[in-house]
Amino acid sequence: MSQYIFTPPETPSVAVRGSDQRYAVARIFCVGRNYAAHAREMGSDPTRESPFYFTKPPVALTPSGATVPYALATRNLHHEMELVVAVGAPLLRATPAQAAKAVWGYAAGLDMTRRDLQNEAKAAGRPWDTGKSFEHSAVIGEFVPAIVTGPLERGAITLAVNGVEKQRGDLADMIWSVPELLANLSQLYHLAPGDIVYTGTPEGVGPVVAGDVITGHIEGLGDIRFTLSEAE
Ligand code: MN
Repeated sequence: MSQYIFTPPETPSVAVRGSDQRYAVARIFCVGRNYAAHAREMGSDPTRESPFYFTKPPVALTPSGATVPYALATRNLHHEMELVVAVGAPLLRATPAQAAKAVWGYAAGLDMTRRDLQNEAKAAGRPWDTGKSFEHSAVIGEFVPAIVTGPLERGAITLAVNGVEKQRGDLADMIWSVPELLANLSQLYHLAPGDIVYTGTPEGVGPVVAGDVITGHIEGLGDIRFTLSEAE
């Protein structure tokens, strides 16, 4: 007899390019407003005061290529195209130089957002969870090891909806670089393999509807694709 009342859920994981092995995910951290132009479009002043974070549950991971129903309980589902970083070594109170060495790999990701619920939460001073942490909200391409890509410090990051470009930025325009983000997170958490970080989105976020095909590209890394079917 199993020690569990119900069958345990599968371990969330992400495909790895060129490998049959997968990267198992324990935690998903996401950075808010990490590109100045996106901070401004959301009505905020971009500053380097301090990065801030929210999280998504690993069960929200959805592989590139998936088709899923338009999200529940929203009329304003937004795309946010992001570079995702996978941690490959323990990090605690690290410097950016130490953190840079702990980057295991990179993937293209979509931080799907129920913008109406997020905006209501912001206005009421409530948590962002219902706006950010929901089913299929963490779309992700395959991880590519950093030993293959080298450090991704610059390069175009773009997103199109039905072939029409909506977002274009450059990784070099991040307010907080990948090593700085990991160093900062390591002041708050014992980072370890299994932790991944969505590093923020450039300007041009906007709504999608059922039937839309969302495609994204990060120079030097790869592509992502996500399709929305009718709402349930
Ligand atoms: Mn985001």
